[in-house]
Amino acid sequence: MPDPAADLPFFHGSISRAEAEDVLKLEGMADGLFLLRQCLRSLGGYVLSVVYEVQLHHYPVERQMNGTYAIAGGKSHCGPAELCEYYSKDADGLVCTLRKPCLRLPGTTPKPGVFDSLRENMLREYVRHTWNLEGEAMEQAIISQAPQLEKLIATTAHEKMPWYHGKIKRTEGERRLYSGVQPDGKFLVRDRDEMGTFALSMMYGKTAYHYQIIQDKSGRYSMPEGTKFDTIWQLVEYLKLKPDGLVYTLREPCVSPNSSMCAIAPAPPSGRKTGPGSNGYTPPPKPPAGQQRPLPMDTSVYESPYSDPEELKEKKLFLKREQLMIDEVELGSGNFGCVKKGVYKMRKKQIDVAIKVLKSENEKGVKDEMMKEAGIMHQLDNPYIVRMIGMCQAESLMLVMEMAPGGPLNKYLSSKKEQITVENVVELMHQVSLGMVYLEQKNFVHRDLAARNVLLVNQHYAKISDFGLSKALGADDNYYKARTAGKWPLKWYAPECINFHKFSSKSDVWSYGITMWEAFTYGQKPYKKMKGPEVISFIEAGNRMDSPAACPEVMYNVMKDCWIYKHEERPSFVVVEEQVRNYHYSISKKPAAEAQPEKTVEV
Ligand code: ADP
Ligand code: MG
Repeated sequence: MPDPAADLPFFHGSISRAEAEDVLKLEGMADGLFLLRQCLRSLGGYVLSVVYEVQLHHYPVERQMNGTYAIAGGKSHCGPAELCEYYSKDADGLVCTLRKPCLRLPGTTPKPGVFDSLRENMLREYVRHTWNLEGEAMEQAIISQAPQLEKLIATTAHEKMPWYHGKIKRTEGERRLYSGVQPDGKFLVRDRDEMGTFALSMMYGKTAYHYQIIQDKSGRYSMPEGTKFDTIWQLVEYLKLKPDGLVYTLREPCVSPNSSMCAIAPAPPSGRKTGPGSNGYTPPPKPPAGQQRPLPMDTSVYESPYSDPEELKEKKLFLKREQLMIDEVELGSGNFGCVKKGVYKMRKKQIDVAIKVLKSENEKGVKDEMMKEAGIMHQLDNPYIVRMIGMCQAESLMLVMEMAPGGPLNKYLSSKKEQITVENVVELMHQVSLGMVYLEQKNFVHRDLAARNVLLVNQHYAKISDFGLSKALGADDNYYKARTAGKWPLKWYAPECINFHKFSSKSDVWSYGITMWEAFTYGQKPYKKMKGPEVISFIEAGNRMDSPAACPEVMYNVMKDCWIYKHEERPSFVVVEEQVRNYHYSISKKPAAEAQPEKTVEV
């Protein structure tokens, strides 16, 4: 999560009070000279350091529960930038107005805080070890599921720490602290009771001290009256820096006999797929079924079946018919024929597949079309795109794909309206945008992006499919020019597609906007009963569809940006993805806070 002050040139990041003083002294200590720095005491807070009469004054800026920022006793502001701007006009209780920003050295970024990098590392390590992911697959997992991952880490990260001893009695905690050497600050964390509360036990002057870790209503952990943190693990890191009410700062962990290894585990040997446990690391326990929804990474289709090097060795474009079992069940159909369910036997595993079966190969062109579709799919490998497993030439020509059992997004949403929250829709649309960023970067145009062509693996996992109209652009081209118009999905097409037959990632962005509209209406048909040509004149006259009833304003604004008439002015998928992601993160962070019972303060 970027720091909201990151772009302010006078924000120095996580520098100490002494460092701030040095910087301000170098700048001359004029009245009103100021800088902003990260506060170590309150997560998300800042300190404003101001010079007045050759003295330094430090004002903590707190981040409040509603997300606004304020200096104690002062007015609230929506961000650190607004707060500083306000105090540059009106001292309002400060020693003087902020007159001269003390800038960072040109070309430098704010100094990252301990938690900034620890949190990032923690996410990485968690994803790496829990799902055995590396590289691009790991990055995508983090981008798409950061809010869920952070929640998981917040509740389970400490379980991996050497200082975490699980459910042991206070007396057993003492026994463990007293065994071996007993330096000051030797500590452990234990589960207190059935309530899920924790206690911290520490040695100081050869005596064991016990503290209850408090959890507030929003689920944050702290020492009584102390700084609050999202995770036990962050609290412990903080208590290593500051005693925050304890008799001493935490130093050396008293290592749990059950601890498999230290907190930030080393990366598994490269070549990956070593399997859990092979390097002594046991992944964190998966939350019990039913309590936690499955993440895309928990499914078998997050990574390609060929990401296993042994399977990759045997990869061929044409699959052997005897390794393919075709079910009678039809998943869908189209002009080309039908899509059937099946199972494909690989070297080490069997996978569920969807098989596009060509109806009449003799019909001129259809076979070519399927081969073209396969040629495109063959080049794509992304968790948010339906992968092709291969082709098969037998009783007919077949295209074998990963199975997305939830079926098309529009149908799914219209049949499950009541169960699916707006947050869920945002999450799915964010995944679609991730798949489209991948296509945009690889210089492919989809040309048929629509809710009917977004398939669901499950309620929280979407993949883009149907590459029947897709094209790979030449290295120097940014659009594809169709020679003649075909059977086109006009309602999904941008004006330049219709008027000039020009297709680019920007015209896919337009279609993404329509797909979003379909999603937020839970599967309604765009432009009501209008016919294609009517839609064209509706758009040319400057009209756009209204916001769906359940659609958040931020999301409708994204849609309208996707429908900017001139493709040069329309955002790219990189931009769209970031907007949808930010909104997705902002709404999926909130819950969790509510349901927690308040914990009492006693040990
Ligand atoms: P068309 O070009 O005819 O639109 P699609 O590729 O969109 O063909 O497939 C038609 C239908 O078949 C889809 O709407 C869906 O119901 C089903 N289908 C296609 N691919 C899959 C898949 N990978 N997993 C599950 N169902 C699929
Ligand atoms: Mg389709």
